[in-house]
Amino acid sequence: MNVNHVNAHSIITITKLKNADFTINPYIGCTHGCVYCYAEYMARFTGHKNEKWCTFLDVKENYTFPDNKFQDKNILIGSATDPYNHFEKQFEKTRALLWNLTDSLAHIEILTKSPLVLRDIDVLSQIKDIKVGFSLSVDDELARLTEPFAPPPSERIEAMRALHAAGITVFAFISPIIPFFSDYQTIVKSVEKYASYVGFENLNLRGGFKADVFNVIREHFPNIFQRFASIYFSRQAFYKFWRIKEREIHEFMQTMEHLPHKMYFFHDDNKKD
Ligand code: SF4
Repeated sequence: MNVNHVNAHSIITITKLKNADFTINPYIGCTHGCVYCYAEYMARFTGHKNEKWCTFLDVKENYTFPDNKFQDKNILIGSATDPYNHFEKQFEKTRALLWNLTDSLAHIEILTKSPLVLRDIDVLSQIKDIKVGFSLSVDDELARLTEPFAPPPSERIEAMRALHAAGITVFAFISPIIPFFSDYQTIVKSVEKYASYVGFENLNLRGGFKADVFNVIREHFPNIFQRFASIYFSRQAFYKFWRIKEREIHEFMQTMEHLPHKMYFFHDDNKKD
């Protein structure tokens, strides 16, 4: 892993994502190596054109946190990195950032795959409105192939339980739903006691990582590969498959009346105009 410390002019960015006004990413790059990572295009725009995503990490330094309480704004921490990647244990950049937000009036969400967030219960509990979301896609066994360096999903669920017990609001982000592999119903049932809501995102395959995902499925699940690939063969096939899945999820979630859910299917729909 090529780790650099870089001067950052700012740490908070206006976003086109519909569910947020601002994003904060304390690092550029990630350590988890998810085969489906849609943030990999960032390498080209951050001075890492010839490096493979998840082989470098830039640690943002020397920024001035804005003197703004961001009243009623929605802030997402971790849209293009895991703020609790392996190096956060050493550098504590996310932890420092959270201390800057203790007097914030924003609605803040953090997205992670790591139980390292438990370290920060002290500061999390001082922030007025913060939710910690855990990304969950598949079971521990498949995650070894699709998220090889991330903590196993079972550890994330245990971290959700521990945060919830500590009075921190948590949510589950079932993302990406991988056709034929993600058992979203089992995941929902395993988090329903802790989650304040569940988000669902489908597997969108664009850019360079499409071939990587195809290779994993082809190599390890040759019997399923053709069916899997056919979903991504055309726009029409893609929308047909996911519209049906979307309905199926709505129907399932109606049986979980106490648990709200949000859909983040189709990336174009998730962006502001
Ligand atoms: S944790 Fe998120 S940012 Fe990191 S590699 Fe996985 S999908 Fe990409």
